[in-house]
Amino acid sequence: MRALEEKILSEGRVLEGGVLQVGAFLNQLVDTAFTREMADDIASAFAGDGVTKVLTVETSGIMIAFATAAALGVPMVFAKKNKTSNLDGNLLTAEIHSFTHNNTYTAAVCADYIRPDDKILIVDDFLANGEALRGLIALVRSGGASVAGCAVQIEKGFQRGGDSLRESGVKVYSLAIIDEMSPDGGIVFRHP
Ligand code: 5GP
Repeated sequence: MRALEEKILSEGRVLEGGVLQVGAFLNQLVDTAFTREMADDIASAFAGDGVTKVLTVETSGIMIAFATAAALGVPMVFAKKNKTSNLDGNLLTAEIHSFTHNNTYTAAVCADYIRPDDKILIVDDFLANGEALRGLIALVRSGGASVAGCAVQIEKGFQRGGDSLRESGVKVYSLAIIDEMSPDGGIVFRHP
């Protein structure tokens, strides 16, 4: 999506350690109209796939997951990272290693919210090593549901998580794929 690439170039900041900061429009100060445009693009890519729900993990995937679910006309559910008192009963869980925080957390969803007849589209803001998406795929399958595919706003192609998921047969749709980036060397996008 050209418009996203342009926003990344004009408003994103490449930090040390392979981290792209896009808080200025995507995951802290959120450009709502642009988020809807991105969601419409993702929804078109999965329009014929029988998606029944959109799943993400809190926090920064929630905005694009909500907008995508609204565009598809289906509910959105998000996995919680901390077991709080309002998460009880049967849970579907997955252990996920966080690239940005360098820790491991348990993502949990109430088992009633993902049913065996669901076809789930998993949505997140970033795809790096693929840990978050792989964890959510495992969580969906542990509930007996199927995965329609995964969609992200920004894939960091140089971390290979997206390609390894594609190789395992998962449909992965990314609005922008970055193949190279460095704090002083600029950003190179992949154009398939
Ligand atoms: P993965 O699990 O694919 O290694 O990393 C994806 C998760 O880490 C996403 O949920 C996202 O929140 C976070 N993440 C990974 N790389 C970046 C990055 O460069 N910038 C930001 N803001 N978040 C990232």
